[in-house]
Amino acid sequence: MYDPLHHQSPGQNAPYPDSYWASTVSLTNSTAAPITGDHDTEVLIIGAGYTGMSTALHLAREHNIQPLVIEANQTAWGCSGRNAGFILKSTGRMAWTAMQKKWGEEVMRGIYHEACSGVDIVNSLIAEGIDCQVQDKGYIKVAHKPSMMPGLEQQAKLLQSMFGYDVEVLSRAQLHNQYMQDEMAHGAIRFEDGFGLNPLKLALGYQDLLARTGVNIHTGSPALSYEKTEKGHVITTPEGRITAKKLVIATNGYTPKGFNPVVNNRFLPVLSQIIVTQPLSEEQLRACNFLTSNVVMDTRALKYYYRKLPDNRILFGGRGAITGKGAEDPYYANRLLTVLKESFPALQSISYDYAWAGWICMSLDDIPHVHQQDDVFYAMGYCGSGVSFSVQAGKRLAERVVGKTLPALPLYQTGLRKFPLPALRRSGQWLYFQYGRIRDNYL
Ligand SMILES: Cc1cc2nc3c(=O)[nH]c(=O)nc-3n(C[C@H](O)[C@H](O)[C@H](O)COP(=O)(O)OP(=O)(O)OC[C@H]3O[C@@H](n4cnc5c(N)ncnc54)[C@H](O)[C@@H]3O)c2cc1C
Repeated sequence: MYDPLHHQSPGQNAPYPDSYWASTVSLTNSTAAPITGDHDTEVLIIGAGYTGMSTALHLAREHNIQPLVIEANQTAWGCSGRNAGFILKSTGRMAWTAMQKKWGEEVMRGIYHEACSGVDIVNSLIAEGIDCQVQDKGYIKVAHKPSMMPGLEQQAKLLQSMFGYDVEVLSRAQLHNQYMQDEMAHGAIRFEDGFGLNPLKLALGYQDLLARTGVNIHTGSPALSYEKTEKGHVITTPEGRITAKKLVIATNGYTPKGFNPVVNNRFLPVLSQIIVTQPLSEEQLRACNFLTSNVVMDTRALKYYYRKLPDNRILFGGRGAITGKGAEDPYYANRLLTVLKESFPALQSISYDYAWAGWICMSLDDIPHVHQQDDVFYAMGYCGSGVSFSVQAGKRLAERVVGKTLPALPLYQTGLRKFPLPALRRSGQWLYFQYGRIRDNYL
């Protein structure tokens, strides 16, 4: 599998992974074609995931700029077409309490507002007619051991008092009776407004909205080389050459090795793995009391997440291999299946129909950054939580491209920090996984 720390290109025109999502869409894209010949443009966007498409949509709709968009493979071939489809009010990995402690209440509220705005934009784009299988509202965060419940209760209180956010505390019995009988869950808190959707359908919906503004994505067009000249940024693809006044990097966790000095060594791509089971029978659903389609995540340092899909399959995810080389080893999918069965012992006979993995983009300080250096702009580092925030980041990136001042928040004021000893990023990740395993199981 493509490994951003080792390979200099994510390929050209590679098909979507064999994911459940790919099986739900018709994959004929009549408007997509590689870019050919010489082009001059005001803005070139590299990468057609949610970030690139949102930036393009906001540039076209709100700032009257028609950017060029190039994508190495297919629209949303990266994370955007292969994630778990959880829409949550979040920005990266940092807890609201940690933000409050680090930057004070006003900044934390500002960031919360940006997270809410991301969800609002996703909802409003869906309301323009994107059919992406939106499921019932609700996000359940389960305590994977009893000692995690006080922390969850405190979080619920904080969110209620700070933001008036309605968060329900559920005992183990309430969770089992009203939502699902997860034997590994020792209680939970439930947010009223997270939800699950089909992420690839969402992305292809954005592509359609973009086409309606006159912007077509050039798929099969990897940016292969980069040069800064007097005329602007010159990017070559296998069949084209683009000179752009402004360059937008929207490649997130799929950014290739040595891609651009502005982002090199400033992120860590980490594999997240997903399995999707066979559809559960009525009997299996009853045996697990699987009543809910809410999205579920646990409190582990090495988190597991799951949801029941519209056709009663279970999507179950967690960490994957460390390198691209190991990504397709069935060990990682089977490990998820084992944990799924521990959570729902009635599903001993179940297996999975789909398994795939994708690169999430970790930043050193656990928050995403929308930044610029001269005329090179980027938004990345969503830390596995960018389905809605990447759309807000794209909106802010478009504003930045046209010279608007962004809110005074760490998300927008500072760029991605360089990793110390970047060559050892994977060793650091391995050590964190060891620590996480010990913390989750023994502490
Ligand atoms: C398994 C998994 C589960 C996840 N689940 C969730 C979830 O439930 N909720 C949530 O909020 N977040 C989730 N995420 C994270 C979320 O999917 C991402 O934050 C989001 O999709 C990032 O979008 P993006 O557009 O920035 O990047 P991407 O969608 O990764 O797009 C980057 C694109 O850039 C292209 N590219 C790279 N290099 C080049 C080049 N040289 N030339 C041209 N194109 C190039 C790639 O082909 C790729 O298509 C998950 C991620 C994974 C992997």
